[in-house]
Amino acid sequence: MNRNLIFWDVDTQVDFILPEGKLYVLGAETIIPTLARLTDWAARHKVLVVASTDAHQPDDEEFTQYRPHCLVGTPGQRKIPETTLLPQFTITVSGRDFPMLCDTGRSSSRSKSSMCSPTPTPRLF
Ligand SMILES: [Zn+2]
Repeated sequence: MNRNLIFWDVDTQVDFILPEGKLYVLGAETIIPTLARLTDWAARHKVLVVASTDAHQPDDEEFTQYRPHCLVGTPGQRKIPETTLLPQFTITVSGRDFPMLCDTGRSSSRSKSSMCSPTPTPRLF
């Protein structure tokens, strides 16, 4: 694994990226090919990938500011296929389940010990 780089993937989810998403960001789908290339590049070069996902319950107070989106368990809360990694890990933040994906990429030849290990002075892209 490359210990000098981290690919930090923030909320590349259906509700934000695709036009049918609940909180679609205009034009976001145009970066999907770039996201796919970055994710594939990270896998090929054994770069640690940390990916967050937005996750809400129906009564989340964030919905007073934004319309409901990324409801846990809905298709809109899923990551787009181009950035989906395996296996998944869940980290609990502030008493809520906050799904996180952490992996070195999509390669099936990963070992668990190579994933999610700390990296000194990483570069983010
Ligand atoms: Zn949100």
